[in-house]
Formats: sequence, C-alpha cells, structure tokens
Amino acid sequence: MRGMGMERSLGGYGRTFGLQRQEMGGPDRPPVKVDRARLGRVARYFAPYWPQWIVIFLCIAATAGLGVLPPLCVRGILDHAIPDKDMRLLYLLVGAIVGLNIVTGLIGVLQNWVNARVGQGIMFDLRNHLYGHLQKQSLGFYTRTRAGEIVSRLNNDVGAVHGVATGTVVSIVSNLMTLVATVTVIFSMNASLAALAVVVVPAFYLPTRIVGKVRRRLSSETQAVQADLVAFMEERLNIGGIMLSKLFGQSRADAQTFRERNRQVMDLTVKQAMAGRWLFMCLSVISVAGPALIYLFGGRLAIGGEISIGTIIAFAAYLSNLYRPIGQLANVYVDIQGGLAVFERIFEYLDTTPEVEDRPDALVLGSTRGHLRLEHVSFSYPVRRRPSAAPEKEEPTSESTESSARLALDDVSFEVQPGQRVALVGPSGAGKTTITYLLPRFYDPTAGRILLDGHDLRDIQQDSLRAHMAAVTQDTFLFHATIRENLLYARPDASDEAITMAARAANIHDFIMDLPEGYDTVVGSRGFRLSGGEKQRVAIARALLKDPRILILDEATSNLDATSEYLIQEALEKLLQGRTSIIIAHRLSTILNADQIVVMDRGKVVEIGAHADLVDAGGLYAKLYRQQFSRVVEQARLSADPQGGNRRR
Ligand code: ATP
Repeated sequence: MRGMGMERSLGGYGRTFGLQRQEMGGPDRPPVKVDRARLGRVARYFAPYWPQWIVIFLCIAATAGLGVLPPLCVRGILDHAIPDKDMRLLYLLVGAIVGLNIVTGLIGVLQNWVNARVGQGIMFDLRNHLYGHLQKQSLGFYTRTRAGEIVSRLNNDVGAVHGVATGTVVSIVSNLMTLVATVTVIFSMNASLAALAVVVVPAFYLPTRIVGKVRRRLSSETQAVQADLVAFMEERLNIGGIMLSKLFGQSRADAQTFRERNRQVMDLTVKQAMAGRWLFMCLSVISVAGPALIYLFGGRLAIGGEISIGTIIAFAAYLSNLYRPIGQLANVYVDIQGGLAVFERIFEYLDTTPEVEDRPDALVLGSTRGHLRLEHVSFSYPVRRRPSAAPEKEEPTSESTESSARLALDDVSFEVQPGQRVALVGPSGAGKTTITYLLPRFYDPTAGRILLDGHDLRDIQQDSLRAHMAAVTQDTFLFHATIRENLLYARPDASDEAITMAARAANIHDFIMDLPEGYDTVVGSRGFRLSGGEKQRVAIARALLKDPRILILDEATSNLDATSEYLIQEALEKLLQGRTSIIIAHRLSTILNADQIVVMDRGKVVEIGAHADLVDAGGLYAKLYRQQFSRVVEQARLSADPQGGNRRR
C-alpha cells in the first residue's frame, strides 16, 4: 500500500527516495544471479497460493487505479464546483475524496490480511520441508555444521521469506501498477506536460542507485563487525571464557578489545544512517524542478487558456505518484537479488543429499535374530570439500563431501552371534565409537560390509533397522520435558505399567517417586537436573522400554560413587539379558562377562578372544589389562583373602 499513506506529498517525493527498503534480504548475502531457474524454483513455493495472489494483485490494481482519482476530484473542485458555485458538486467531490481514502484503506486491510496468510503459509511449508529434510541428514552433516547455523536457517532465513512475499513482491507490483496508472492518466490529460514531468526522472534515478550501492556496502560491513562482536561476546561471556580471562588476568585487555569492536559498530551504523543524506538534500532541491516546470509551462498554457488551473494542480499532485515508485524501482534488481538470496540459503540445505539413504527397494526388517557380522569393514569420516571460490565461508554449501584420507576403521572383521555380548576394548581413538555409529547406519562403511542376519545393512531400510536397536551412551541426552515424556520417546504407546516396570528394572523408579511431581517432573537443560548416574538410569529405563534386539552400550568412564555404580550395574545387567550387545567397555566386570573381547588399535582389530586367552597371549589386551585393571584385581583379591595375601608376602 505504498503511496497511499503517510509518504504521500503533493508534487514531490519522499525524503528517502525509495531507499528505505535497502535492508531487504540481508546485506550480508552474497550477490545471487537472478536467472530463470532460480526464479522458477522460488515461484514453485508461491504457486500453491495462486488464488490468494490473484486477490492480492486485484487489491494492488484497485489501489493503484483509485490512487489516480483524488487529483481528478481536486481538478473538478477547482475547475467546476468553485467557478460554477455548484455546492452539490463540491460536496460530491469532497465526499469522493474522503470515500476513496476509506475504500483504499479497506482494500489495504484485505490485502494485508491475505498477504500475511500467504507469507506465513509459504514460511510454514518451507519450514516443514526443511525440518523434514534436516531430519534425514546423516550424523556427518551435524558434526560439520554449527548448531547455531542450522537453527538460524530454520528461523531467520525462513522468517525472511515472509518479508520477500509480503514486501518485495508486493512492493514491485504495486510500484509498477502505480506507475502505469499515473503515466496513463497524465499523458491522457496533457502529453506535453506529462513529457516535462518525465524529463527530470534521470536526475534522481541515477543518484538513487549510486547511494543504494554505498549503503549496501556499509550495511554489510556493519553486519560483519556486528557478527565479530557477537562471536567475541559468546566466547568470553561463558563459564569457560570468563574463567580463562580471570585466571590469565586479561579482563582489562578483553574489555578494551570489546570497546574497540563496539565503537566500530557504532561508527559504521552512524555512517550508514548518514550515507546519501547530503545527496538527498540536494535531490530534494532538484525535486522541486518537477513541480516548478509544471507550474511554469502549465501556467503558460493556462494563461493561453489551453488548460485549466485544476489540471495544473492535479498534475503536480501526480508527480509524487510518479517519482516515488521510480525511486523505489531504481533498486528493484537488488531487491530481487536480496529476496533470492534468502531462498538460496534455504535451498542450499534442501539440496544437501544425506550421505546415508534408503535404497528404493530397501528391505523392511520385521524382526531380527541379532546376528551381526562385519566383513573387512573400512571407514573414514567424510570431510566437507569447501568450494575454492569461498574458502572461508561457514555455510555448508551444497555439501560436497569426500572421505578423509585417514581410516578410522581399517579392514575390521568380527562376528557376533545372536544374544552374544561383545566388549570393544582399545586405546583412545582406536575406532570403538566409530563401530557403534556404523551399526545403526549413522554412516555406511567406505569399504566392506556389515551383515545383520545375512542382509547387508545398506539393503535394510534405516528406520526398520533402528527399530531393533537401542543405545545407552556415556553422555545421556534427555529432552527438556517430563521424565514420562522422555521415556515415552522410546515407545510412544507404552502403558503406565510398562513405564513403571522399565523404571523399576533400571533402579530409578523409587528415586522418581520421591521427586515432587514423580514421573511428571521436568528434567533437562533447565529446571530440575538429574545427576549423571540418575540420568544414566533413566536412559537405561528408556532402552528397556524400547526392548531392542541389539543393544549398543558405551560405558561411562566417569567415577560414580559405590551406590550409584551398583545401581547402574544391576540395571545394565537386566538390560543386557538376552540381547546382542556391543559394549565399549571400561569396567573389568563387563569385560569379564563378555562372550568375546574385540581389541582394537588405530582402526584395526588386533586381537579377538576371551579374557584368559588374551591375557595369556601377552599382546595389547594383556598390556591394557595390566595398566588398568591388574591393581584393582589384586586389591579385590587381597581384601577377599587377607591371609592369602599375607602368605604371599
Ligand atoms: P575413545 O575411547 O577416545 O572414545 P574411540 O576408540 O571410540 O576413542 P573413535 O571415536 O571411534 O575412537 O575415533 C576413531 C578415529 O576417528 C579417531 O582418530 C578420531 O579422531 C576420528 N574421528 C572420530 N569422529 C570423527 C569425525 N566426526 N570426523 C572425523 N574424524 C573423526
């Protein structure tokens, strides 16, 4: 509804010369080529709302059409009503001016309403589409992308789409229509006066474009400095950063750095606000040239009796309807670029193909015996190939990935019979966690294959494979929700009895019942917090509720007190019963209870066997065992048999 409101001025144009929309689309966006393919892709998101678009364009057309009528009414008043002393006509024309404004206002309300629905609708579709797509991304995508970045795209970029749909598109169409309507009317009123009005257009069209460029440059500089400032604050104003700053006595230096960056932001923002103001001031002087020419030449024509006074006044009034849209359309290309850039950032994510995908004819695994077999499995983590043109950009681009040269797993083979327990043992970085990532297909092997009941995992539909697996990791993740909701995440249809049974088996039921709101107590990042041991038992209950055939367990290395340790051990024992289990083992008891110990080092399996055999073999396992556990075993033996110990001494 530009041009119909406050901005309107008689015979001139607004002080910002159409540059008030420069921020549209975010100035930090890289320039995007406006081509048919991109426009077509964006149009596909607009297309489902075509009936609403028709309403919007009709509203704009009606507004533009009605916008040319008030000056005609003024002409009627000056040329007919007053000279003819026709009070009826005077009332009618003044009434028409007021009525037209009311009608235009009502159309504006309708247009805004439809427009908001379309804008929100497109956002709704895009956000759902993007969320669904992000869910399908492999683990690698999330390890490579900053969490804040993903949320920012889902939130800010998708949010900016609303601005494109309700701002850019509408403003372009509305300006074009106002322009066409005004040009048509003024040329039909008097062609030579209309030509005069148009003559001054280049005088402000070109400077407007130049100032637009300067402001955009300043704007992107400001954004960059602002991003620096935010990054600095995030780094320093958190527990780790502030501790470091205090310990190393850098508080004053940090404050100084902060002040400098803060000042840069301030200076640039002021510069940006002032950019082009002098030029605009000069231009507003020039802008008087339009009405001056009209009054001069129109006045001469009026003296000659060729046109009426009303026509001159109406003409002068039309100038604002002419110059303002031209000023705004001067930067139309940049507006479109900005709008496309918003979509482009969303498309970058939508174009990211997940590294792990289901085959079209993938097997839906109804049940499984839990027989696992790794055959010559090698794996290296995919690394993102940055495009050489923009090596420093944080964006995930179109996610071209390739495997890193380093093998995290190198020709790994072993077999786990249904119901067996396998303990994975080895030094840090050996590849134990990596194996637990390949089993639920968070990644697929680079070479070799993993078989479940004889089926290559790559042939099995991911969801159906994971339906038979559960994992209890060191780092228990619970949602910021109630304990019940956290447990139900494993099996949404679980009854209260099933939940209680799982919690009892995990030795956490009594603890939960002692909480103020029992199972409805909110846990998580905020609110009530559970201790590490309690969280783990909730995780065990969650896994029990899922009742998987295959269990992946990453034992906690952290030292818990004896009671907590005991409760967890007992709970784990129940969880492990009768399941195929792959355990990254840190406790001697777990290792001793395993059917098979797979010893890994630098991505390779170096030994496989039972505890006693491996100790006798005197290899890596024996060494690790001596380093980590022999003292514990000796102490346990001594405390159980002190006389024996004395005898030996
Ligand atoms: P730890 O006992 O310390 O957890 P681990 O035996 O579980 O070690 P893994 O986590 O499987 O070891 O790591 C194996 C190798 O893969 C390591 O060299 C590690 O640096 C590398 N690695 C792990 N995750 C990634 C990743 N996302 N991207 C690239 N390399 C990775």
